[in-house]
Amino acid sequence: MFEGLSDRLGGVLDKLRKRGALKESDVKEAMREVRVALLEADVALPVVKTFITNATERAVGQDVLRSVTPGQMVVKIVHDELKNMLGEGEDINLASTPPVPILMVGLQGSGKTTSSAKIALHLTKKRNKKVLLASLDIYRPAAQQQLKVLADDNGLGVLPIVLGEKPVSIAKRAMDTGRKEGYDAVILDTAGRLHIDMELMSEVAQVRDAVNPVETLLVTDAMTGQDSVNVAKEFAEKVGITGIVLTRVDGDARGGAALSMRQITGCPIKMIGVGEKIDEMEAFHPDRIANRILGMGDVVSLVEKAAETIKAEDAEKMAKKLRKGQFDLNDLLAQLKQLQKMGDLSGIMGMLPGMGALKKQMSQTKLDPKLLTHQEAIILSMTPKERENPALIKASRKKRIAAGCGLTVQDVNKLLKQYQTMSTMIKKMGKMGKKGLFGGMPK
Ligand code: GDP
Ligand code: MG
Repeated sequence: MFEGLSDRLGGVLDKLRKRGALKESDVKEAMREVRVALLEADVALPVVKTFITNATERAVGQDVLRSVTPGQMVVKIVHDELKNMLGEGEDINLASTPPVPILMVGLQGSGKTTSSAKIALHLTKKRNKKVLLASLDIYRPAAQQQLKVLADDNGLGVLPIVLGEKPVSIAKRAMDTGRKEGYDAVILDTAGRLHIDMELMSEVAQVRDAVNPVETLLVTDAMTGQDSVNVAKEFAEKVGITGIVLTRVDGDARGGAALSMRQITGCPIKMIGVGEKIDEMEAFHPDRIANRILGMGDVVSLVEKAAETIKAEDAEKMAKKLRKGQFDLNDLLAQLKQLQKMGDLSGIMGMLPGMGALKKQMSQTKLDPKLLTHQEAIILSMTPKERENPALIKASRKKRIAAGCGLTVQDVNKLLKQYQTMSTMIKKMGKMGKKGLFGGMPK
């Protein structure tokens, strides 16, 4: 196993026993370790740099959750940024008049032929499509035969081989056959070279111009690491690609190529190959690859759990106040903030039995974001005393508050009325609570 990033960061950050926001100096030190981890995972250098900048920006100033260490917190932030930069996976695009041409490009040995058959099987089985395979690889002995055998063994359609035919005319014949025989998609498996060369590029470009593919998928080997960057750049510039197929993600590959490919081409990762067998292809899941890149598993779920716990603790605090019938404008402000964050109060309210009425009341006030911002602004224009004791707020104070937040006295009145309604309801419930209605509530 690889040394997990959390182990490395343990040494750097867990000395920090102080809680609170992550400081820039600490984050910078931690990011040196992250950098090493990414380079070891074979992420290309320029991509590592971009990543570190983004992740640092995200981390500095973030509060460390109470029940995790600063090191774990940074790992979680790094993981989230990684997921963010990896983007979501996407399925093959077939949104065009059938037969939809799909062009497979890449270096020799990257896994084009295997992936062509894998994608044909995927489209057949998962999406119920009729797919025709065609090999344009006239250079490698038996390359066309290789695809035909794969197709025949798996009951997939394949274009009959005509000896001596050139790639462009094979491609055109494949499209003709696709049209005549009612195929949904035609997958064109091209030849590769060991290295990029102009001849290869111009041949692929000719095929592209002949069939106008909806998808041009760059097949790259996850194991080749740093080299794959140049290959991707070249194909993206000279041929133009729409998606990435990453192969050999089953081996020791740390998955760094996924991040490099995504960043350098800007194209989504469409499929990943996880074995030699034809059914060993999967959809792309950014969090799995992120785990692989960072060489870890548990930390992220740990931090997620901590976040949940804290949410529950906050809810519990609120529940206590509510039970006592206390509810001032500070509480309302906290709720408004929560509302903005979650878009819904059901998370907290859901933990409090008997809160149905309040929940309904709250949900009536939702969820015009502008309204929430206004309400927040009004409370923020009040003095702390006024927030604790809203009864103080008489006409002159209302005027001052309205002026302070750039709204009208009417707006202030509306907010106070809403507060009154909620407060009354909560007091009622508090009283009922003493009679034991909330016997089952958490203490
Ligand atoms: P092409 O030259 O680009 O057409 O590459 P091939 O499809 O012929 O694949 C080259 C070799 O890589 C073959 O032995 C395949 O079985 C193997 N291969 C392709 N994809 C994968 C994969 O996802 N995992 C593993 N382990 N091997 C693969
Ligand atoms: Mg091949």
